[in-house]
Amino acid sequence: MSLACAYDYDGDYDVYVCPDSDLHALTKHCKCRSCRKKMQPGEMARRVNLHVNDEDGVKCGEWFLCEACDEIIETLENLGYNAYGSDDSAQDLLNDYQDYTGFDPKKYTREESNA
Ligand SMILES: [Zn+2]
Repeated sequence: MSLACAYDYDGDYDVYVCPDSDLHALTKHCKCRSCRKKMQPGEMARRVNLHVNDEDGVKCGEWFLCEACDEIIETLENLGYNAYGSDDSAQDLLNDYQDYTGFDPKKYTREESNA
């Protein structure tokens, strides 16, 4: 276990996201975990450091999110959801959130266009 992932793990999550995950310019080709978009070196992306709990025990890993997906997921995370650790895409999570809360992002743009 690396220092970056030295973190109390209580086994409640299959995927536990470490708090040091950061937004940085890619140094290699990566695929966004959420929307599967191919990202080029130099593109900004979120590297998510995580613990994965499977049959072999707890391992450290990482995955990458493009800026668009990261913005959605970070917002949901700030609202208290374990969004970085989810297997669902950012768009699916956002749809779930909107279904769950009744939040309609077009509500105000519609009102403006009628004014
Ligand atoms: Zn993406």
